[in-house]
Amino acid sequence: MRLSKSFFYTIREDLKDEDSTSSNLLLRAGFIKRSSAGVFMMLPLGYKTLVNIENIIREEMNAIDSLEMAMPALVPMEIFEKSNRDQIIGDSMYKLQDRFSRPFALAPTHEELFAIAGKSAVRSYKHLPFSLYQFQTKFRDETRARYGLIRVREFIMKDAYSFDTNDETCDDSYQNMRKAYNNIFDRLHLDYRVVKADSGIMGGQLSEEYQAIAPIGEDTIVICEACDFASNLEVAPAPTLSYTYEKSGESIEEVHTPNVKTIEDVAQFLNKKTNQLLKTLVYKYNDNEFIAILLNGDHDLNETKLAKYVNAEVEPASEEDIVEYANSVAGFIGPMDLNIKTIADNSVMNMQDFVIGANKKDYHKVNVNLEDITVDEYLDVRNIQESDTCPHCGHKVSFNNAIEVGNIFKLGTGYSEAFDLFYSDQDNKLQPVVMGSYGIGIGRTLAAMVEQHHDEKGLNLPFNIAPYKVSIVVIGTKDEAQMEYADQLYRDLEKQGISTILDDRNERPGVKFNDVDLIGVPIRITVGKLLSEGLVEVKLRNVDASDNVEISELNTYINELITNLSK
Ligand SMILES: [Zn+2]
Repeated sequence: MRLSKSFFYTIREDLKDEDSTSSNLLLRAGFIKRSSAGVFMMLPLGYKTLVNIENIIREEMNAIDSLEMAMPALVPMEIFEKSNRDQIIGDSMYKLQDRFSRPFALAPTHEELFAIAGKSAVRSYKHLPFSLYQFQTKFRDETRARYGLIRVREFIMKDAYSFDTNDETCDDSYQNMRKAYNNIFDRLHLDYRVVKADSGIMGGQLSEEYQAIAPIGEDTIVICEACDFASNLEVAPAPTLSYTYEKSGESIEEVHTPNVKTIEDVAQFLNKKTNQLLKTLVYKYNDNEFIAILLNGDHDLNETKLAKYVNAEVEPASEEDIVEYANSVAGFIGPMDLNIKTIADNSVMNMQDFVIGANKKDYHKVNVNLEDITVDEYLDVRNIQESDTCPHCGHKVSFNNAIEVGNIFKLGTGYSEAFDLFYSDQDNKLQPVVMGSYGIGIGRTLAAMVEQHHDEKGLNLPFNIAPYKVSIVVIGTKDEAQMEYADQLYRDLEKQGISTILDDRNERPGVKFNDVDLIGVPIRITVGKLLSEGLVEVKLRNVDASDNVEISELNTYINELITNLSK
């Protein structure tokens, strides 16, 4: 790219309104431009970078014999009605009508269409397994687009789908895909973890996420410092705690506790530890069903675990509902005389002489024990905490913010059954195809890479992803010898397949240096006065020092640098 003749701009100042480092830098470096909230133009530099990411993904997908294809983005609504995802995805789906009022959607995901495509190729078990993938634009009507490319309304996704005869072969496909994903994110030089996850709107049995560690990440992942345990907080198993205090033998007493709101208030008022309090929450599900959840005062409810238990979306019951359906009062709920189903977290099993709400305003009960209350079931329904130990090995765990860049799902047969994707087995019996679904958000991956690879000068993407590998900065643009040499060097490097920027603009050197550093060009060659002595200056983006190199040795020198940087 010859800058004097190319679309190119940078923004010098920080963009104060941006809520993430990656959006600030990508906008300033002229990689992207916002078209509306959560929708971005991929400008030439950004597009070239995305293609570099895509090509690595493409190589790894092809290496496991997945075939690339392309699905339409415009999908008749009846297809999502068949899988019930018009309801499940709900308002996050862009819904529209054509001129004859026929309903369509801009596809937020493509499991349905791939099941339909699979049906055309599958008659018997002999036609399985196989897998397909695409790079496709997806649409999600996010209520709050934010963090630049991280939470967007339109984005490119690589999605792949595997088709198998049974769970065991699906497991092989899943593991192959997992290996390919590990290769991809290794080659992208991301600091990531593969974590157990909730299947969410995809449905299905097993699911794992690829999470890139970053402070702005909206997910919390729990990592063991000793073993390979890593999990999304949503699904991380929490250990069952034991408590050391002993039974006092005193009988239950109702205590007036005015003006106390929080667990800490109650504990302080009664001169107890917070872990001597039993917290009772009431949740609503399936429109009008209610459930009470008992937790140790130190613990927080994990709504994902609760939702899985009741097999429905859950929400905290309103104050009115608590009065009407649970026969209690918000802030003073307790498990005695509650008239709804009551479950308790496993750690409650080891509590004694605890404090509960008295189901009337401004009153608590003390000296309560398990035999005084009714619990329908004990289960793990709390969030793991940083003070907890690893559920696998007992070592310390740490919490990290992370950006979900990819996910892999064993879908089971839900979509196959909905779309009549069956094969005849060796006994000529019809069986549903077992599917898997595997996604990578391309723009989000780029943003996560920028979050991890930047410095005060700008973007600092890994060599294999940087849109341009070498820049040639001409100091004396009016000097014929410098311009002629730089132009020849530019053509030589491009001929060797090395993406090069020739900065032949009539600008001050400082401006040019700042620009190539902001974009993150790994190797800079400065052509200036020293050229008359047969020398040019070579500098690496990440090293302060520079070298003067004989022009006769320059080509070898650059190629050695590239070999080293490509490792
Ligand atoms: Zn561990």
